[in-house]
Amino acid sequence: MTEFTDKNVLVIGGSRGIGAAIVRRLARSGAEVAFSYAGSADAAAALASETGATAIRSDAADRAAVVDLVKGRGALDILVVNAGTLVMGDPLETDADAVDRMIDINVRAPYHAAVEAARQMRDGGRIIVIGSVNGDRMPFAGGAAYAMTKSALQGMARGLARDFGARGITVNIVQPGPTDTDMNPSDGPMSGFMHEFMAIKRHATGEEIAAMVAYLAGPEAGIVTGALHTIDGGFGA
Ligand code: NDP
Repeated sequence: MTEFTDKNVLVIGGSRGIGAAIVRRLARSGAEVAFSYAGSADAAAALASETGATAIRSDAADRAAVVDLVKGRGALDILVVNAGTLVMGDPLETDADAVDRMIDINVRAPYHAAVEAARQMRDGGRIIVIGSVNGDRMPFAGGAAYAMTKSALQGMARGLARDFGARGITVNIVQPGPTDTDMNPSDGPMSGFMHEFMAIKRHATGEEIAAMVAYLAGPEAGIVTGALHTIDGGFGA
């Protein structure tokens, strides 16, 4: 027996980066994990065979697909919504469709997934969404739309925590700072610049973010809800 034995878990956006680390962490602790992906079929297949998790192709930008995905997993114990995209740049030059697609993936998908999950979720269930420290702090130009999507999650968690609290279902946001993934590689050209804002001047690992998720998903966090959990090396301090 381990802490998540037989827990029914869905990770939306789990093929790479932080999502893959979450899949590994929960599967290693006994959970029955399914995860979705959109583009990275090879990475998803490799992760499924490594962990025993179930990979499901489903585009988080498509609301009907998100709802079908969640509904199809039955009574979840734990929902983690990790899928996210980053569109940065001068707002006067940025493609409006790309911004809208980011809003679909970063905001609409977590909301609709959380609501659909709550229909069947067992009492005491867990809903965890990966936000960003940029929901609190956007210390450079070009990040308005991304920061907007991550701030929106804060209000969602506060509200849904109250909607589902009577059933003991918790709703929390994990807010990473710079974390070493394809989206934000630790050896990328922006790293030194980002480290200037940090008290501990390095990227987090996906495993460090997954550890926070595991705490919130676990039995010791039953009273933690409607809250933001920043793990950012002091980026926002
Ligand atoms: P990556 O780009 O490395 O990985 C993103 C993951 O999300 C992939 O598994 C990808 O799957 C999935 N995904 C993206 N779009 C979709 C979609 N439309 N449908 C389904 N799945 C999708 O990103 P990170 O791991 O770095 O980021 C994960 C989360 O953490 C995001 O929400 C991000 O905003 C947040 N975050 C990241 C930080 C960082 O520094 N890395 C800092 C703060 C927050 P596939 O490739 O199969 O499409």
